[in-house]
Amino acid sequence: MLKLFNTLSGEKEEFNSIEKGKVRFYSCGPTVYNHAHIGNLTAYTFADTLKRYLKFKGYEVRHIFNFTDVGHLTDDEVNQADSGEDKMLRAAIKEKKSPLEIAEFYIDLFFEDAKKMNFQKAQFYPRATAHVPQMIDLIETLIKKGLAYESNGNVFYDVEKFKNYGKLSGKKVEELKHGARLEKHPDKKHAYDFALWLKAPKEHILKWESPWSLGYPGWHIECSAMSMEYLGETLDIHTGAEDNIFPHHENEIAQSEGATGQTFARFWLHLRHLLVNGEKMSKSKGNFYILRDIIKKGYDPMVFRLLILSSHYRSNINFTWDGMEQAQKNLEKISRLIESLKEIKGKEIQSEKQKDLNLDKVQAGFVEAMDDDINTPKALSVVFELITKVNQIIAEEGLSSTDTKELLSFWNKINKVLGLELIEKKKEQIPAEIIDLANQRKKAREEKDFEKADKLRDKILQQGFVVEDESAGFVVMKK
Ligand SMILES: [Zn+2]
Repeated sequence: MLKLFNTLSGEKEEFNSIEKGKVRFYSCGPTVYNHAHIGNLTAYTFADTLKRYLKFKGYEVRHIFNFTDVGHLTDDEVNQADSGEDKMLRAAIKEKKSPLEIAEFYIDLFFEDAKKMNFQKAQFYPRATAHVPQMIDLIETLIKKGLAYESNGNVFYDVEKFKNYGKLSGKKVEELKHGARLEKHPDKKHAYDFALWLKAPKEHILKWESPWSLGYPGWHIECSAMSMEYLGETLDIHTGAEDNIFPHHENEIAQSEGATGQTFARFWLHLRHLLVNGEKMSKSKGNFYILRDIIKKGYDPMVFRLLILSSHYRSNINFTWDGMEQAQKNLEKISRLIESLKEIKGKEIQSEKQKDLNLDKVQAGFVEAMDDDINTPKALSVVFELITKVNQIIAEEGLSSTDTKELLSFWNKINKVLGLELIEKKKEQIPAEIIDLANQRKKAREEKDFEKADKLRDKILQQGFVVEDESAGFVVMKK
């Protein structure tokens, strides 16, 4: 029986879906104005692992993952996202590109990272800019229901009118009233009301016609409109990072439930912040990383995936280079065993005698851990116990061909959940001629023949590989 910790109730609850055998699953995706940092990737890895496990349990999962490509505003936790600076606009000015070019660029990078992290594809990746009419419809409904008001071309949600406001975050309207940091928009009735639609100032590039003004939607309305468009009025699962709980998810509930009168999401799952060396990640502290930084240090992205899985999603996953080193060793341990199983399978029989591997029991242990609110560290410990046992058998008496085959199919089954691409397999994907070109390039660089080095880099690129330099030499990756 799968139990998931629901932020809404503050308890682990038995999971079942509205429609038998099908799960309607929504994840808040990135605002595409920058690289996804490793904290974002941790949240997406959790969503991916949860999705994989639901499939393992026999569910058909309809997963929607959005891209926020219309400027949502910084300082949103302070200002309910309606008086801060526009992140997309800021990036556009800095990079001298249009906001849509910026979005396109970072969406491509997101998909590159997603591939490297071995994320299974979502059913659909809706973009906010393609769903403005749906947002306008939703806002009109909220105005009709008396939950939102228009003021000088802007539309705000009247928080006091929604009686369940605060049910996810536990924040009371009373407390919000005294929130000293709330800045009041001149057209708002109350500082804690939040924007559904804003009249665009002249410098705003992305703007749309609406019944209220030439303007643009607030951030929160996007997710309500897009999730309901693809999944209906009630979702089974909504995931995000813990800093999405307030105001973003609280406001999604107010908008969606206010408009439909139905429960918006039955299960709200939130991942705790990723820490770096025990501290919150921030650019100013110099502990801010993206996936490329990890690859440049010589680690395979799968090592990072294993590091994430080694902690529970509701504990603060702590990223350290020592932790990565340990994860690397663990991934190698799995890889080595699978490699030797494949070798044994291809050769004559090592041993006639079948061993008592008890794979059913091992699988039951794995399922028990995952059923308990996706306890990946516990599930991994079950896998590592088995690895130790099998290594011992191979060393002492040898493995029978039946056992070998069973072990390999067992691994394939549970790895559909873990989503690890093993190291050896990846190495095979880089052909020797590419490595040879990369070596020639290294030599050219050492001889300071940069023209030749650049030509070789292009040649490698043409064949679908990227070479990146690092102090110890280079890394070659699939593009
Ligand atoms: Zn969202």
